[in-house]
Amino acid sequence: MSFAVAIDGPAAAGKGTISRAVAAHFGFAHLDTGLLYRAVGAKVLEGADAIEAAEALRAEDLQADNLRTAEVAQAASKVAVIPEVRAALVDFQRAFARRDGGAVLDGRDIGTVICPDAEVKIFVTASAEVRAKRRFLELQAAGSTMSLEAVLADVVARDARDRDRATAPMKPAEGALILDTSEMTIDEAVAAATRAIAARR
Ligand code: C5P
Repeated sequence: MSFAVAIDGPAAAGKGTISRAVAAHFGFAHLDTGLLYRAVGAKVLEGADAIEAAEALRAEDLQADNLRTAEVAQAASKVAVIPEVRAALVDFQRAFARRDGGAVLDGRDIGTVICPDAEVKIFVTASAEVRAKRRFLELQAAGSTMSLEAVLADVVARDARDRDRATAPMKPAEGALILDTSEMTIDEAVAAATRAIAARR
C-alpha cells in the first residue's frame, strides 16, 4: 500500500533532517527532490542544456559528489524556474510517491504539484537568519570558507527565486501543517512531524 508524506519548505529549514528521520521511523523510502534539480544545475555548470539534461537524467547522476555546494544550489534554483525542466522530472517523483510501503518526498512543490493527494503535508520553515546560520555551519564543516553574510545573501536570493517563479512556486499546500523550526531543536521538530504522520496512519 502507498502512503505519501510531502515535506516542503525553503532552504536549510530542516526538511532533509526531518524527512530522513521520519522515513527511518516509519520504514518509508525517502527522496530528496532537491537533488534532481541540483544534478541538472551541475550539468548546466558543465555546459549542458538544462532541458536536455533534465530529460536525460539518470539515477546515477544523483550520486555525484559536488551536488551540495553553494554554486550548484544557485544553479539548481535557476534551472528550477524552467517549466520544461520541471515537467521532465514529474513522472519519476510521482511514481516514487506512490511506491508500495510508503514514501517521504522533500522539496518545494511536493504538496502543491507533485503529490497534492499526499496523506500528510508539512511545510517546514524558519527565519532566514536561522537557516543561513545552519547552512553556514554545514558548509564550514564541509571545508567551505564562505562568510555568514554571503550564505545569508545566497539563501535570500534562492528563496526569492523559488517563491516568485511562475511554475510551481514554493508555498504551503492547502491543509499543510506549518512547522516553524526557528526555535525548535531537531528532536522537537522530528517529534512534531512524527505525530502528524502517526495521526494519519
Ligand atoms: O532542497 P534543495 O536546497 O537541495 O533544492 C535546490 C533547489 O532546487 C531549490 O532552491 C529549488 O530551486 C529547486 N527545487 C525545486 N523543487 C523541488 C526541490 C528543489 O524547485 N521540489
